[in-house]
Amino acid sequence: MTVIRGDDLIQSVADALQFISYYHPKDFVDAVHAAYRREENPAAKDALAQILINSRMCAEGHRPICQDTGIVTVFVKIGMRVQWDSDVGVADLINEGVRRAYLHPDNVLRASILTDPAGARLNSKDNTPAVIHMEVVPGDKVEVEVAAKGGGSEAKSKFAMLNPSDDIVDWVLEMVPTMGAGWCPPGILGIGIGGTAEKAMVMAKQACMGSIDINELKARQPANALEQLRLEIYEKVNALGIGAQGLGGLTTVLDVKIKDYPTHAANKPVALIPNCAATRHAHFVLDGSGPVELSPPSLADWPEITREVGGDTRRVDLDSLTAEDARQWRPGDTLLLSGTILTGRDAAHKRMVDMLNRGESLPVELSGKFIYYVGPVDPVRGEVVGPAGPTTATRMDKFTDQILAQTGLLGMIGKAERGPAALAAIKKHGAVSLIAVGGAAYLVSKAIRQSRVVAFDDLGMEAIHEFVVEDMPVTVAVDSNGESVHQIAPKIWQQRIGKIPVAQA
Ligand code: SF4
Repeated sequence: MTVIRGDDLIQSVADALQFISYYHPKDFVDAVHAAYRREENPAAKDALAQILINSRMCAEGHRPICQDTGIVTVFVKIGMRVQWDSDVGVADLINEGVRRAYLHPDNVLRASILTDPAGARLNSKDNTPAVIHMEVVPGDKVEVEVAAKGGGSEAKSKFAMLNPSDDIVDWVLEMVPTMGAGWCPPGILGIGIGGTAEKAMVMAKQACMGSIDINELKARQPANALEQLRLEIYEKVNALGIGAQGLGGLTTVLDVKIKDYPTHAANKPVALIPNCAATRHAHFVLDGSGPVELSPPSLADWPEITREVGGDTRRVDLDSLTAEDARQWRPGDTLLLSGTILTGRDAAHKRMVDMLNRGESLPVELSGKFIYYVGPVDPVRGEVVGPAGPTTATRMDKFTDQILAQTGLLGMIGKAERGPAALAAIKKHGAVSLIAVGGAAYLVSKAIRQSRVVAFDDLGMEAIHEFVVEDMPVTVAVDSNGESVHQIAPKIWQQRIGKIPVAQA
């Protein structure tokens, strides 16, 4: 019988969550670096460079890889010969670990969890509760897998109860293009096949926790049908040409991980969960000897990458920019923005639109401005702002026409594609939509030189801030004609990929 102290589980969970907030797994860094080396589309290559530079900066600075520091998901295997030295349950111990990690004063993580999800949606303020899956297994140890899953990638999860004769590869190839770029590719596809509906979803999530080893699989050749399926999906998804951040290119997925389970003869449940550019997970084992200390990686594990800024990249002074200037931009153009921008995401947009509908004036002047869809991490140690990468732009699509029509806003900055309603509104009002790289939040935050809250203070990270930025890197996603890089570029790259060996590292 092994005695496990409750405090050891709390401390180990807290330490693991801090660890994964700023250290990407080495296999992930290696895979992104390999994708960077072979990428042929300059825009996608630059996005990969930003992800790698951001990753190294976070490892050095011990600050979050992404402003969305995730919903905590924990898989626990408890040995049957374990005895707990604790007065509280295992779930409460884990949640105490989450609380300590997210409120850690040296590296405050963003609290993103809302209680009463169908109603008031109130922030729990400490990122609890975690989603916890427990299993009792033979043995005398406690095995823990901890992940912090981004909301943007979680939002793209898919499930289907296929007919037994349906083809899983066909279904995945149908689903991935519908996921757009809001899951911040490149990443990993976790797939669960079989069981029941809920079993397939849990397997897909757990599959995301595996190490990236698709190149080893290719080198040794698949040993069974499931490995063959992994390889086929990996190669065919990458051949879609979606690319990093949906900008078109050779690498959309870094690996495809699959778990399966026996199922009913009438069913073929399949679940697909993407893990994003902020892939964060850690594994540890408690054996009764105390809390687990994860070994920090060596900075030598990160490649020394510098961005090749220049060439076609334009510097833009936002404070003197006119609508006519912005109309000259074309999809895929890369810009470095300097000047003043405002921030606002879901809650701020809802409140602004409600105010406009009541005929009230807005507390901020949007005319001639850009609004950045972001909910930054709180600053620490004298920072202007914590990591501040873009959030998914499509969530603001339903507000776009009204905001453009009634405020004179010049444009928006977010991540990933815009939907049909936003594209039509952008064209109608001659506005533009820009993207920053999702998963490069700390890098983006370094371009923010001043920050102050100017409205809706009560919304916390969703308050409207005024940022003064210098050389903030963005790409034109939608031009004033409503032309979208996310529609054009993947088609071009899908055609080109037929002629180039995408699957080689
Ligand atoms: S990389 Fe993208 S999907 Fe992942 S946590 Fe960050 S913003 Fe969300």
